[in-house]
Amino acid sequence: MQCRVVKIKDAERAMKILEILEKNMEIKKEEFTALASEDPFEILIATILSQNTNDRNSLAAFNELKRRIGINPDSLSKAEEDDIADAIRIAGLYRTKARAIKEIAREVEEKYGGDFRKVLSLENPRDELLKLPKVGEKTADVVLLFSSRMETFPIDTHVRRVAGRLGLSSGSYEEMRRDLMSLFKGKCLEAHLLLIQLGRRYCRARKPLCSTCPVRSLCPTGMKGSP
Ligand code: SF4
Repeated sequence: MQCRVVKIKDAERAMKILEILEKNMEIKKEEFTALASEDPFEILIATILSQNTNDRNSLAAFNELKRRIGINPDSLSKAEEDDIADAIRIAGLYRTKARAIKEIAREVEEKYGGDFRKVLSLENPRDELLKLPKVGEKTADVVLLFSSRMETFPIDTHVRRVAGRLGLSSGSYEEMRRDLMSLFKGKCLEAHLLLIQLGRRYCRARKPLCSTCPVRSLCPTGMKGSP
């Protein structure tokens, strides 16, 4: 794969942006479902639950699933799909998600003897994660970054929009992942969380709050007036 060259100037600007965000924005655990656990399998399920819904609802679904069935490959592979669906109803798309969760649990049981950590210790854990049912690039990257602190950069809609407006990266998922990994080397988790917070609080899709944004002086879009 061809590597894109990240300009030094951009790297310095990225680090300054991160510094300002660290000073101005608190990372609230309850706003990120994937921070609800340190167990890699639970992080995977939390990420599946958070697809197409807000963190409040996905966290409620996560807690309910844990209370009713338990979040581990053994209990989820044995549970009825309807019972999983019922427990996660608040997360939306609950039937599709329940099917995915059951399939994943079954596959982890069959392929890894129920020990999901084995996946992370393989030579290419990202490739292995991508072979699991319903696990796409963003989900795989969240699991890797949040559970094993492996350097990667999940690209969600907030990250894509904010990084684009900040002039840090654009393009395909893989191009952005590589750019942002390089720009925020060693600080990918903090940068990922803070860019999302920036997107939620200031750099909204519609009517971004550029005039009060803490990184406006480093943002080409904000300096121009508006996106
Ligand atoms: S200045 Fe505006 S466009 Fe730039 S990051 Fe802030 S809110 Fe987004």
